[in-house]
Amino acid sequence: MSRRITWSPSVTLVPTRGCFNACGYCSFRLPLGQARPLQPEQAEVALARRPAAAEVLLLSGEVAPEAPERQAWFARLLQLSRLALAHGRLPHTNAGPLSRREMAALGRLNPSMGLMLEGLGPAYDRLHRHAPSKRLELRLGQLEQAGRLGIPFTTGLLLGVGESWDDRVAALELLAELQGRWGHLQEVILQPWRPDGAQSRPLDAEEKADLLELIALARRLLPSEVHLQMPPNLWPLEDLPAALDAGIDDLGGIDVHDVINPAYPQPSLRALELQLAGRAWRLQARTCVHRRWWSWLPSALRVRVEWSALRLEAA
Ligand code: SF4
Repeated sequence: MSRRITWSPSVTLVPTRGCFNACGYCSFRLPLGQARPLQPEQAEVALARRPAAAEVLLLSGEVAPEAPERQAWFARLLQLSRLALAHGRLPHTNAGPLSRREMAALGRLNPSMGLMLEGLGPAYDRLHRHAPSKRLELRLGQLEQAGRLGIPFTTGLLLGVGESWDDRVAALELLAELQGRWGHLQEVILQPWRPDGAQSRPLDAEEKADLLELIALARRLLPSEVHLQMPPNLWPLEDLPAALDAGIDDLGGIDVHDVINPAYPQPSLRALELQLAGRAWRLQARTCVHRRWWSWLPSALRVRVEWSALRLEAA
């Protein structure tokens, strides 16, 4: 019997690249004041270019909670979420820490939302020393808040930044505890970090063994309903079957380009299918929220998700 590997046809909208953080690995951000906010007309053009994308990933730079620009920034997130719904798409927002009121308001428009935990330990502390919103306790509080609000949620770990195995185990155990309390974590992204410019270098045997071991560890530590996701452009395509064997069962939202890692081109669907041909894997398109969590959604959103899923099945 074949095993399903899910993925979500998506289009990414960037409300702004302006960000008050300065993470040590980021090639996405612009300083606040230098970034132009995305206009609705630009969003409409982007949606029209990707008619088959059921998911609209709203991926934004962050504005500090006390900044005067916060209100306009948040209003834009709401506006773009509504615009996505008006076009028959499903918004999935990842815009950093939110107040309870903000998260609840977006949760009424977004079938799922996300925030990377990133990881814990001295390697992350160094990379985040100029990123106030990446404090571990703040991120954990956000995951807790999403659980309390009943929002299906995606989180993840950034790997290969110098973290120890103990740090990895501790981070995965924290996520497992959260899932035990709230049950809302639908996916954990295991995101290998490599610097821009390293894309042409295949992973060496040691790097590959390390990541495969980590995937297997995550599968053992996290409850079975939590999908393990790996962005397919950040892992050599010929090694994808090994990652699936180790426990990856989801490839996440796939757009034509990866705006966070532009140096790593997305594989085409055809290339993915060829890689899996003849093996016990079957690619299956899904919406941004996995079926197990559909019953958590407000009925108006649930209807939209069911309709989107039917369209994906028919495609
Ligand atoms: S929070 Fe995100 S956008 Fe901002 S600097 Fe960090 S990685 Fe870049």
